[in-house]
Amino acid sequence: NKQIHLDNRPQGEATAGNFKLVTSETPALQEGQVLVRHHFLSLDPYMRGRMNDAKSYAQPQPLGQVMGGGTVGEVAESKSPKYQVGDKVVGMGGWQEYSVASADQPGALRKVDTTHVPLSHYLGAVGMPGVTAWYGLVKIIEPKAGQTVVVSAATGAVGSAFGALAKARNCRAVGIAGGAEKCKYAVEELGFDACIDYRQHADAASLSKAIKEACPGGIDGYFENVGGMVLDAVMMRLNAFARIALCGMIAGYDGKPMPMSYPQLLLTNRVKLEGFIVSEHMDIWPEALKELGTLVATGKLRPRETIAQGIESAPEAFLGLLKGRNFGKQLVKLV
Ligand code: NDP
Repeated sequence: NKQIHLDNRPQGEATAGNFKLVTSETPALQEGQVLVRHHFLSLDPYMRGRMNDAKSYAQPQPLGQVMGGGTVGEVAESKSPKYQVGDKVVGMGGWQEYSVASADQPGALRKVDTTHVPLSHYLGAVGMPGVTAWYGLVKIIEPKAGQTVVVSAATGAVGSAFGALAKARNCRAVGIAGGAEKCKYAVEELGFDACIDYRQHADAASLSKAIKEACPGGIDGYFENVGGMVLDAVMMRLNAFARIALCGMIAGYDGKPMPMSYPQLLLTNRVKLEGFIVSEHMDIWPEALKELGTLVATGKLRPRETIAQGIESAPEAFLGLLKGRNFGKQLVKLV
C-alpha cells in the first residue's frame, strides 16, 4: 500500500520536499471493517491550509502520517454485512492506494450509484466541491432569476458546478478564470454567459473595466474562491444589497498577505458578506447532491477533470493546483 505522508511543514510556498512516499502493509481487517481499493484521490485547495500548524477550522495534518483526502473506490474485502465486495464507495481514505474504514462509523463511507454518474464525479461536481457551490449560491447569494452572479476560479471543481446551478436558476452567470483556453471552455462547455481572463489584467482597475462590460447591470452575487486583485475588481462593480459568498481565498494560501483595497464599498453598497465551511452544513447535502447528480446525469453539467497517474504524482499535481495548472477537478488515478 503506497502512501504519501506529510514529512515537514512548508516555510512559505509548499514544495515536493514537504511530502514523503512510504510503502506499508495493508492492515488485516477486524469485525465491522472494510478494505477499500481507491480508484481516485481528490486533491483540494483546503489541504494546503492543513499543512500548516495554525489554528483554523480544520485540525492541522499530523506529521509522519498519511495525508488526509477524499477518495472513491470499491470494496475489496468486507467484514461487515453492510458492504459487499465490489460496492462503489466515497470516503476519506487519504493519499494512499488502500484504506480501512469502519462500516458503522457515521459518514465514514457512502455507497454511490455509477449508472448515470461516473465514479470520479463523486469527488467533484456530485461531491464536496459541488455541494460547496450549491451552498454559497442557494443559501448565501439567494439569487432571483435575471440577477447577475459572478464566480472566480470559474472552471475549477467548485466554479463549474456554480455555473450550472446559476443557469438552472435563470441567472446571468459570469466567470473569472486564468487564461483564454479556460475562458473559452467556460462559455462554450459550461454555459457561462461570459468569462473574463484575469491574467490579461495588470491591476484591479483594468480587470474591473472588463467586468463592467461582462456585467452591464452590475453584480448581485459574488462567489469568491480567490481573493486579492480579483476580489478588489469585483467589489467595484457590486450592486446595492449584493451578497458575497466567501468560499475560498486561494491566492493567499501560501501565506502571502492579501489586503482588501476598498472595504468601504461593503458599507456604501450595504453588502452581505458571509464565509462558510461546507462540512458544517451537512443538512443541505442530500438536496444539493440530488440536484447536482441530475445536472450531471442529464448532461447539463459536464465537468472537466485533470487526472494525474499514480500516488507518486500526487505532490506535484497538488502543487500545480495551487498554481492554476489544473483544468477542472484535480484527481489522482490510483490502482
Ligand atoms: P479549483 O478546481 O478551482 O482549482 C483551484 C483554482 O484556483 C486553479 O485552477 C486556479 O484557477 C485558481 N488559482 C490557483 N492559484 C491561484 C492564485 N494564486 N491566484 C488566483 N487563482 C488561483 O479548486 P476547487 O474548485 O476545489 O476550490 C475552489 C475554491 O473553493 C478554493 O479557494 C477552495 O479553498 C474553496 N473551497 C472552499 C470550501 C468551503 O467549505 N469553504 C470547500 C471547497 C472548496 P485559474 O487558473 O482560473 O486562476
